[in-house]
Formats: sequence, structure tokens, C-alpha cells
Amino acid sequence: MQEKLDILKAKLKTIHDVNYAAAVLGWDQQTYMPPGGAAARAEQLSTLSKISHELFTADEIGELLSDLAQAGFDYDSNEASLVRVAQRDYDQARKLPPQLVEEMSRTFSMGQQVWTKARAEKDFSQFQGVLTKIVDLNIQAAEAYGYEESIYDALLNQYEPGMKASEVQSVFATLKSALVPLVQAIAENKDAVDDLVLQQEFDEQTQWDFGLLPLQAIGFDMERGRQDKSAHPFTTSFSVNDVRITTRLHKEMIGSALFGTLHEGGHALYEQNSDQALEGTLLAGGTSLGVHESQSRLWENVVGRSKAFWQFYYPKLQDFFPAQLKSVSLDSFYKAINKSEPSYVRVEADEVTYNLHIFLRFELEQSLLNKSLRVADLPAAWNAKMEEYLGMTPPNDALGVLQDIHWSGGMMGYFPTYTLGNILSLQFYSKALQDIPDLPEQFSKGEFGALLGWFREHIHRHGRKFTANELIERVTGDAGIKADPYLKYIKQKYSDIYQL
Ligand code: ZN
Repeated sequence: MQEKLDILKAKLKTIHDVNYAAAVLGWDQQTYMPPGGAAARAEQLSTLSKISHELFTADEIGELLSDLAQAGFDYDSNEASLVRVAQRDYDQARKLPPQLVEEMSRTFSMGQQVWTKARAEKDFSQFQGVLTKIVDLNIQAAEAYGYEESIYDALLNQYEPGMKASEVQSVFATLKSALVPLVQAIAENKDAVDDLVLQQEFDEQTQWDFGLLPLQAIGFDMERGRQDKSAHPFTTSFSVNDVRITTRLHKEMIGSALFGTLHEGGHALYEQNSDQALEGTLLAGGTSLGVHESQSRLWENVVGRSKAFWQFYYPKLQDFFPAQLKSVSLDSFYKAINKSEPSYVRVEADEVTYNLHIFLRFELEQSLLNKSLRVADLPAAWNAKMEEYLGMTPPNDALGVLQDIHWSGGMMGYFPTYTLGNILSLQFYSKALQDIPDLPEQFSKGEFGALLGWFREHIHRHGRKFTANELIERVTGDAGIKADPYLKYIKQKYSDIYQL
């Protein structure tokens, strides 16, 4: 068996190297590549993805995996986990016919081009045709993957392995019944908070310089990672020891870099803290998008928008921006960065209203996939749900149905992971707080090592070894995802800020 394991590991290592080389190209594409490189880069990425897919779906890998499944490794061991996770990935990769994979790749890449233009021209009708095809291809893929309860499960499974739409539905229902009234209560008391302090100009280089302080303080290792700029912030890794993040800087929007840097930093901490023994296997990195997002939201919101955090950092920020902030109190600044109000655009939404944007997308995706909603009727359905959840109708499609890139790139079943991440951040954090009750006091002194250590021990080091539900149970004792800690946090925080 050891020999077979060594052969499997060597084969997976080759695939790993191909994938991570592609990641370098992808990172470069979004950071430094000149526009003229786009066509060649698309070819290179498509070639590497084809090579990787061919190597991974070879019959020999399947034979090695089924032999090794009999080896009797201990469930928690790296060996058993590697066989288990590789088998899951392998089964998924083998289910899609190559012809469908190719058609999806071509359509999704075209979809992004069409969407970019349609969004710029605020015109959904340009996007309708290709989106219809994208929905249809997703339905075909879901049928090929197979599912037990709902077609949505097959697509959700790509991002949140093992999670069912019904599970998401039930936790979202709990959240919805609490958040909708909270949004209303805040709206009735909206004068309690203003964010005029943020509506000033802040020098971009100074924003960058400041952002590096908390980024390194929370534990981002500059020897094993770096930060660059990009139009849309993201995190990617080429190794446990080389994790890249990006941020964006706007003179008029200091919050974008402040919280974007902490958000991507949170993703990066998860990647940098996989056990070194998992390097070069399929097991390094995050286990699901929801768990990944729990780490970014934790550092961005639970820590980065807390009073304790700014007790330490606000005087420093004032030193960086004396003209703008010297006469503004910590309390005013804290309220400003937590201001909540309905908005059209998801990525600009605050902690309270954010999830309503996700409910809307989750419900529309389900309707599209079960064919109860036609793509032609999507903009109207979008606007009706915006009115229902947020009390506002987008003035145009760019601020409505065309705002997100996900569908144009073929990603359906992805959106719920953002809200799952919000919920999980608190499910995990409330357990950390039980174990280390003085965390907020530590934050107010600029100390984050204990919290990072807790996450490293309970979550990060395991990489992909355990599924999200396995991790939740091991870490919190809960049988699955649970909204209570998140709701308790959000109600407490916003009742305090808005004096509800
Ligand atoms: Zn994220």
C-alpha cells in the first residue's frame, strides 16, 4: 500500500504544480498583465486547465484511489484524508463529459465579455442570450453531477461540499425573520448615525501604508505572501508559503481599502496556516467557500469593525490623516464605519443588509434552475425582490441584475456561501470567546495572536481534510450550521449603535 500511496502522491503533486502555475498566471492577469496579453493568457490558462483535468481524470488515479480506500488508514490521518478528498474531487471531475466542460469553458469566458459590455451600457437585453445558455449549461452540469433532493444541491456542492439547499433554506429563513425587522427598526432611527467623516478625500498611498499595520498585526506573514493592487480584491495562493492578496484604493472611499485589506488578510491567514505537511497535496487551503468566507468576515467585521480594534488603531489612523480625523471622536468614527442602510449594490452593503442581497440571489437562482423563472423575466423578478427585502427599486440594470460577475462566469450556487461565511464566523468566534474570554481586551491592545492561534489549531491547520460540517461539529459541538450566535451578535451590536 505504501508504494501505491507514493505513486498517487507523486501524480497529485504534478497536478498540484500545474494548478498552482495556472494560479500564478491568473494572479498576474489581474495585477500586472498589460491589456494586450489577454488573448494569449486565456489560451495558456485553458491549456493548463486541460492538462490538469486530463491528468487528474486518468483511469489509473481511480484505480489507485479504490485500492487505497481499502488500506484502513485512520480517518483523521493525512493519508486517509488525502484518499477521501481526492476521491470526492475525482468523482466530480469524471462526471462531466469533456464536451460539456469545453462548452462551459467557452461560454463562460464569452459570458464575461458580454456581461462587461452589457453592464457598462446598463442593458440586460445584451446579456439575456448568453445568460440563457449559461443557465442551461448549469442545468446540464447539475444533471451530470446528480443530486438527491434538489437540482441546486448539485451546484452548491461545488463550493460547499456536502451542503444541501434545504439546509441553507432553513438557516436563511431563521436569519430572514430576524433581519427584516432589524433593518426596519434601523431605518426608523437612521439619524442616530452619520458617516460624513468618511466622505472626505484620503490620500491613496497613505491608505496603503496604514493598511499594512493591522494586516501584519493580525498575522499575515510578509515572508510568505505579499499584497498588490487590483480592480477587484482577491486572495490566491501558489503554495502554503506564498499567498497573495490584493486591495483597491479609492481616494473618496477609505473603507474600501481598510476593510478590504482585512477581508483578504483573513482569507490569507487560512491559506498560510495549513499544516506544512499538506503542502503539495490536494489538502492545503480552505475546505469550502463558506468556511473561507468565515475567516475573511471574522477579521473584516467581527474584529475589524469592533470598538476594541479601533481603540487601538484609531489614534494611529488619526496620525496618518490628521486633517481629516483629528477633530472626529472614536465613537463617531466607530458608528460611521458601521452605518447601516439599504443600498442597491451587494459589495457595498453593511453587515445587516448584506445578507438580504444574498437571499434574493439564492431564491432567484433556485427559480432559474427549476425553470419556474425565465431569464427574460429575471430583471423584473430581481427588482421585485429588491423592493420586498430592501424597499428600493434599482434605477437601472447595472445597479440591479447586472451588478455581479458570478453568473456571467458560469457560477451558480456560489452566492449562499457569503452568508454561510457570515454565520460561521460567529459560530466559530463565539466558541473562541468561550475559550479565551478576554479577546476584545487583547484587540484593544493591538494583540491578535491568541485568536489567530485558536483558529490555526481548530481550523486552519486541517486544510481540506474535513468538510465544513465535520469542522463545525468538531470545533463547536453543533450538528451543523446555526444562526443563533450570528443573530445575537448582530442584534446586540446594532441595538447599541442605533439605540434601539
Ligand atoms: Zn471573501
